[in-house]
Amino acid sequence: MEIIHTIEVKALVELQKMDAAMDAKKAIAAGVPVKIAALNAAFEAKKRSMSAAHEALLALQVKKKDSELKIAEAEEGIRKHQRELNLVKDNNAFKALLSEIENDKKNKDELETGILFLLEEIDKASVQDKAIREEVKKIEETMRAEVAALEATAKEIAAGLETAKAERAAAAAALNPDLLEKYENIRVNKKGLAVAVVHEDPATPGKYSCGGCHMSLTPQKTLDIKKHDTFAVCQDCRRLMYLEKTVYGEPVKE
Ligand SMILES: [Zn+2]
Repeated sequence: MEIIHTIEVKALVELQKMDAAMDAKKAIAAGVPVKIAALNAAFEAKKRSMSAAHEALLALQVKKKDSELKIAEAEEGIRKHQRELNLVKDNNAFKALLSEIENDKKNKDELETGILFLLEEIDKASVQDKAIREEVKKIEETMRAEVAALEATAKEIAAGLETAKAERAAAAAALNPDLLEKYENIRVNKKGLAVAVVHEDPATPGKYSCGGCHMSLTPQKTLDIKKHDTFAVCQDCRRLMYLEKTVYGEPVKE
């Protein structure tokens, strides 16, 4: 079948427009949970880096505390050995204690130097920890606003679709069942577009292409689309083609 005669050309074109609008809205609604999931995932990733920064800071603080305990132990050792110095009579034991004290002092110095280094590290880690905390807070606020907007969009679309569905059902019910069935079948096979407008090449007036598959029309199809109450069937994609001005008339010139 290369052409379809029907007085319902305009009605079917209108139905296709309704369906296309509904499909577009559905696609947006379907994208909403995906977008929300992506926002959540990005936020969770940021939160993990926040925890890592905080753990790094805590680890440094634990290390500092540990060094402080070791210094206290070294000091205790020094005091103990100094008390013992007063009690020993033997020269070798005396020397051994002095050597112990020297050793403790050396340890203490090293630990104190280590603490100075740790304090610098803790300062840096604190700055980092605070910065990432603030960043996460900002991201969370932005994310919450975006999610709320997306949810509002989805809700609005769902409400609009309910109305559109009712209008679509009424429009479909008014059509010839055979024509409707043909339309539905093509729509299933052609990603929702069964009725395609024909485009005229602006550079080559009189040269037309199918709005569905973009193939050029044969001379016969070019004649067919100018006939009233007629769909020309695209020779390439089998969609039902129409010419805007044949269906809706010449646009009003201002
Ligand atoms: Zn086509």
